[in-house]
Amino acid sequence: MIDLHNRNIDYLRISVTDRCNLRCVYCMPAEGIEACAHDEVLTYEEILKVCRCAAALGICKIKLTGGEPLARKGVAGLIRQLKEIDGIEQVTMTSNGVLLYEQLPALVEAGLDAVNISLDTLDPKRFEQITRGQRFDTVLKSIDLALQLGIRVKINCLPVREFNGDHLMQMAELAHTRPIDVRFIELMPIGYGKDLTPIPSSEIQELLYRTYGELTPCTQELGNGPASYFSLAGFQGNIGFISAVSTCFCSNCNRIRLTSTGFLKLCLHYNKGIELRDLLRGGISDADLTKLLRDAILEKPTQHQFGSHIVDEEQHTMAEIGG
Ligand code: SAM
Ligand code: SF4
Repeated sequence: MIDLHNRNIDYLRISVTDRCNLRCVYCMPAEGIEACAHDEVLTYEEILKVCRCAAALGICKIKLTGGEPLARKGVAGLIRQLKEIDGIEQVTMTSNGVLLYEQLPALVEAGLDAVNISLDTLDPKRFEQITRGQRFDTVLKSIDLALQLGIRVKINCLPVREFNGDHLMQMAELAHTRPIDVRFIELMPIGYGKDLTPIPSSEIQELLYRTYGELTPCTQELGNGPASYFSLAGFQGNIGFISAVSTCFCSNCNRIRLTSTGFLKLCLHYNKGIELRDLLRGGISDADLTKLLRDAILEKPTQHQFGSHIVDEEQHTMAEIGG
């Protein structure tokens, strides 16, 4: 569906849980966040109903996120049912990779189209420092398994001055030696991310140029969103940049978000949206829900205001929003 700013809104990110088995420093406090009670979280039936109505409006791509989406049971079944909805062309997931190793075969069998694995370092000690967790080896095994199973895999890396500034070329090496894309995502000043120092994409591009030579912009479309991709000589995968802070790409924003408790969120940076859970539990019809979603999309903010104070700024952590 085209919104009031001529943007084609075709992508829905769904957080299926706010729970997580890691505690990344930019996302959560060491003790974790207080998880929502189970009955506050949307059931899979409720999620499917929202997706059916969203698909009727032109949403064709869905990303499952969290918290850690695989911390919730039955995600493969959800994927299977999402893929059966008329109009849904693609269901993908972003995961920290820890539970992926054991679940990936079932997810692929259910129809998962691609997976993004979040990984900020290839050093096991730094991994523990950043995620406050272990199982680094399992994350690496998940990456290899995804390649073996022939599913598209991208690595999401958050370059943060305090943690991995000296490790970024090692991360790029993953795309040198394997057919996977590595994406450097600028840390956004949201939740615990506000306390850390992002490394701007321009600095990483300069480092890549000095290490590997020319970065050639990719012309083909490689994802659902705002990443710009480059190829480098001898690389099997591409290097992507999501520069949400240094470059405003809101004029091309194609997404809306559904939190685990059923808040339909229209822009990452604002608290603007609609609480859908009570309406779903009150028995709202598909026709009324579709109309509500249509009206909400027309209210989608023009752009984020990172760097300036806004009145209804997002106060939730990234684990609650889903990234
Ligand atoms: N647990 C899953 C994972 O880590 O991929 C899915 C949820 S996580 C919130 C989704 C993405 O948000 C991750 O790639 C994470 O690195 C990213 N993220 C968390 N905090 C962020 C921040 N302040 N700015 C930008 N990205 C952030
Ligand atoms: Fe968990 Fe993902 Fe947040 Fe890390 S970024 S704490 S893995 S939700």
